[in-house]
Amino acid sequence: MSKITCDFCGAKDTNDNPVIAGDNAFICKSCVNAAYDIMNGKAASQQQIETETTQAVAQEIKLRTPAELKTILDEYVVGQDTAKKVLSVAVYNHYKRIFRKHEIDDDTELNKSNVLLIGPTGSGKTLLAQTISKYLDVPLAIADATSLTEAGYVGDDVENVVTRLVQAADGDIQKAQRGIIFIDEIDKIARMSENRSITRDVSGEGVQQALLKIVEGAVVNVPPKGGRKHPGQEALQVDTTNILFVCGGAFDGLEDIIKKKQGTNVLGFNHDKKSKNDHDEVISSVQTDDLVKYGLIPELIGRLHMLATLNEITEDNMVHILTEPKNALVKQYIKLFEMDDVKLEFQEDALKEVARMAIERKTGARGLRSILEDIMLDIMFDIPNYKDKTVTITKDVVTKEKQPKIA
Ligand code: ADP
Repeated sequence: MSKITCDFCGAKDTNDNPVIAGDNAFICKSCVNAAYDIMNGKAASQQQIETETTQAVAQEIKLRTPAELKTILDEYVVGQDTAKKVLSVAVYNHYKRIFRKHEIDDDTELNKSNVLLIGPTGSGKTLLAQTISKYLDVPLAIADATSLTEAGYVGDDVENVVTRLVQAADGDIQKAQRGIIFIDEIDKIARMSENRSITRDVSGEGVQQALLKIVEGAVVNVPPKGGRKHPGQEALQVDTTNILFVCGGAFDGLEDIIKKKQGTNVLGFNHDKKSKNDHDEVISSVQTDDLVKYGLIPELIGRLHMLATLNEITEDNMVHILTEPKNALVKQYIKLFEMDDVKLEFQEDALKEVARMAIERKTGARGLRSILEDIMLDIMFDIPNYKDKTVTITKDVVTKEKQPKIA
């Protein structure tokens, strides 16, 4: 695909909207038309120019329906149906709001639908954002809220996240301006609240305020080649109004806040025996006031309109994650072996054992990769010796009690 873009509006060179090259600049057909009209006194209104531009860009980002988006997510993310639906609708509305706003003939303003994903670590929050950005071909920047500081403090200034997005867009400001920023561990910048025993540094609220500014929409100065800002260096301006923000967090302790409000016994007799489903059910009834109690500032919550909770990954889910998604780990190993003409098979109880071990680690599905890598290392080492054979991984191989069956 051509990498040439219009210097006026940033649109890419396409058949429908070709970009013409001058000595020192590029211009696309729709900007030429707009310029022609202006020169001939038929001054197209700014809105008209914007419309033509956004239409040109919309052709690049194919507007997919929520159902199409969810189907894509289903191919990569196991379970988490509600979160997938919420994210699909949010993303659809977001890009519809940007690219089809000219269809609104009154002055109705559509608010941005940023998303808050609440779910345990390793349950797929980041994966959801990564999958969406990959399939829409929009840049994605991922930041950890705990590393962010208010401007002027030592650390990662909130505005640097925007710089990272520009880097992810290969320096293309227009593209960055419609990208996605994923802020993980948003719960860790909650201000201290009397409801929680967790103590953290008080600057959490300051970081939330700084974050609020860019989530709401602000013009951020970004150094031209990324990196740190230097005085005297000419900055690029990035408008964050159309950037979609997805925030994620585990919100440990939120369950107790919700239960307290609902009047359920927090430290009841069966507290230790609560099932995962109980936990997921309580968390899924979260309301914005619970998040305020948790320590997020109401203004920030107000900007994260779409709220979805993710479930803890069960043993069955783990097995599905190992085998079903398009890039499932087991599928990847089978392909790697195939390349050496070796057939690889995993017995069902071997997969269940891997799943059980991952659950024990309490890092969600994130633990699966390192567990499998550990099991597969020796086998991979000897793989050239197994040409035209079948290697079977049994439960005993996973527990390291036996060597794999080679037949
Ligand atoms: P977090 O919820 O902490 O953001 P991630 O999305 O980063 O978790 O998950 C870590 C890894 O675990 C992913 O890269 C993916 O391989 C796997 N994973 C987690 N949840 C799922 C899921 N629901 N479906 C498929 N894979 C998952």
